Amino acid sequence: METYDVVVVGARCGGAPAARLLAGQGLRVLLLDRGARGSDKLSTLYVHQPGVAFLRAWGVLDEVRATGAPPITELTYRVRDVVLRAPGPEVGGGNEAYAPRRGDLDAILGRAAEAAGVDVVHEASVTELVHERGRPAGLRYRKAGRWHEVRADLVVGADGLRSTVAGLVPAESYAVHPKLSCCVYGYWAGLDAGFEQHQGDGLWVGVIPTAGAHVVACYFRQSEFARVRVDVAGAHDRCLRAAAPSVAERLAGAERIGRLIGMGDQQNYFRTASGPGWALVGDAGHHKDSLTARGITDAFVQADLLARAVAEAGSLRPARLDARLAAYARERDRRMMPFYRSTLAVARLDVEAERLAELRRIAASPELRARYGAAVAGVLTPEEYRLHDAALAP
Ligand SMILES: Cc1cc2nc3c(=O)[nH]c(=O)nc-3n(C[C@H](O)[C@H](O)[C@H](O)COP(=O)(O)OP(=O)(O)OC[C@H]3O[C@@H](n4cnc5c(N)ncnc54)[C@H](O)[C@@H]3O)c2cc1C
Repeated sequence: METYDVVVVGARCGGAPAARLLAGQGLRVLLLDRGARGSDKLSTLYVHQPGVAFLRAWGVLDEVRATGAPPITELTYRVRDVVLRAPGPEVGGGNEAYAPRRGDLDAILGRAAEAAGVDVVHEASVTELVHERGRPAGLRYRKAGRWHEVRADLVVGADGLRSTVAGLVPAESYAVHPKLSCCVYGYWAGLDAGFEQHQGDGLWVGVIPTAGAHVVACYFRQSEFARVRVDVAGAHDRCLRAAAPSVAERLAGAERIGRLIGMGDQQNYFRTASGPGWALVGDAGHHKDSLTARGITDAFVQADLLARAVAEAGSLRPARLDARLAAYARERDRRMMPFYRSTLAVARLDVEAERLAELRRIAASPELRARYGAAVAGVLTPEEYRLHDAALAP
């Protein structure tokens, strides 16, 4: 049997930073992941400026840059006749976003956790929790055919959309919304493009510069998924021609790398973020349509919030810890709800006359364009948070 203060399940954008920040408080932390170190993950890779600010604060931004992912400082958004160029907001000493390959980013975060003293174990699959006095007191995992039991005062589930920990505690789901979109994406080398978004009726195209290539992602309504999945190349091509003909033209001179990936499991939910002796971080506790590319940045925000809550508890004794974990859950909802709502609105893929008029107004004003760029990145003013808080109040 192994004994730790904290055991974190899932070693990517949510789990690795959470483990690292908790180890930085002098806690003994074990980080487990059933995947291989440096393995890839479905993603269009984009990390908004507030997410990059965390990478900078955690001292890993230079390593992320060294992967070859170029800085992204402007967004071009085209819908019908509207072309809106929005600058990235300045957050934490920089205005760049990045889209590093997930294998690279997650490995960098894992190494940073290790350097902070976290024990990181890959290819270790968690299947059970150990309960004592009505709360998790650890877990069991299997690695290379052998079972291990770990005792810990705090169990953190950062194990993604199909979280084992969320199922075992069990965490209750709420604010669940039907799936709205589905997508097909791939990588192209030699494409002449910046960071672009193009919208058509029921369609959305995102072009995202990453290391040595661009991701070109096409989004469709969820109701189209049965059709899309049987011919992903045809669907991708049709979407580009209809919603982003200029991208289709430029793509003709570029080279596709690897296969196209289709993805329809765009769940929208919250799960209770904590209970006595446990907490959820990242997709394990909250997931939304990937169209607004918020999952990585939001996982960083949650890792930071959880680490702050544990620091405020000042002790892992239940009497102190559980109250701070409950406060973490409330703050997580407060911080995530505005982006959940805006994502649900955008992922409907409707082009309404009212929205077009608003976008025209924004495109014509440098101040509104800057505000738009900040809102897309998830930088809200205190007044905007207050409006959301008021809407959340019972
Ligand atoms: C098509 C698509 C495009 C996306 N594009 C973007 C984007 O551009 N920008 C963005 O910010 N977000 C994007 N996202 C969302 C983003 O990928 C996720 O929000 C993010 O990966 C969440 O990180 P996480 O650490 O919470 O979970 P995950 O990245 O899912 O990591 C969970 C880890 O837990 C491990 N695990 C699971 N179960 C167990 C177990 N029982 N035992 C041990 N280990 C376990 C898994 O192996 C995995 O490594 C996209 C998602 C999709 C599907």
